[in-house]
Amino acid sequence: MKVNYHTHTYRCKHAGGSEKDYIDAAVEKKFDVIGMSDHAPFPDYDFGYRMAYDELDDYVNTLSILKNDYKNRIKVYTGLEIEYFPHYTSYYEELLIRIGMDYLILGEHMYEKEHELYKNIYNSDSTECYVEYANAINQALRTGYFKILAHPDLCMLCNFAWDYNCDKALDIIVDAVAATGTIIEYNANGLRRGIQEFPDGDRYPYPHRKFWTKIADAKLPVIVGADAHSPEQLWDDYLALAYSNLDKIGINPLQRDIL
Ligand SMILES: [Zn+2]
Ligand SMILES: [Zn+2]
Repeated sequence: MKVNYHTHTYRCKHAGGSEKDYIDAAVEKKFDVIGMSDHAPFPDYDFGYRMAYDELDDYVNTLSILKNDYKNRIKVYTGLEIEYFPHYTSYYEELLIRIGMDYLILGEHMYEKEHELYKNIYNSDSTECYVEYANAINQALRTGYFKILAHPDLCMLCNFAWDYNCDKALDIIVDAVAATGTIIEYNANGLRRGIQEFPDGDRYPYPHRKFWTKIADAKLPVIVGADAHSPEQLWDDYLALAYSNLDKIGINPLQRDIL
């Protein structure tokens, strides 16, 4: 089966294509399942580069019409990629229960930190932030709101060499994923960023090989995420590279309907 659950739309303001454009591309590429998971808005705070809160209803309604229109050709799911902030608990409940989202992907780009409400992982001051970040992911996954953990090693895009904190952070994430039965995503978008220079050598910012070796050892359920920001990215060379990288480290990713 060919599936993808990590798909954006023009609504997040840094991707191209409508819901229909992605579904058409998925049908053309012979996918069996397409899950739409645009960057979620928050009701009273605009982080930028994501869907506006007042577009949420239209996103959900558009997808509910398309689900029906395409029901004989492809299975369509409505999801969102979203961060976890503990003070928004009622909002996650609303998305899943009242609005009826099929799933949420935890895409932790920011986390709550004392004295700094929304700490952006891209602006890590040191690898100590990775441990805070991992603790935030652990707390998020234990709520049970999230089906998939997107780019679990996103922090590795920061310009630091591998050290003790990297091992510590990644162990926390591996334990949280194992304890909660979350599916962990091998993200093709990190590969799209290309090989870059880091203090400890040239590599992709993420997925990080050391981290994924741990995942292979832990035998966790893995899925490949296109993290498509254009319809072409649903199935491009980076997807082929993602599957081949996983094969080399002995991971057999899920290729079935996980919902
Ligand atoms: Zn994005
Ligand atoms: Zn994404």
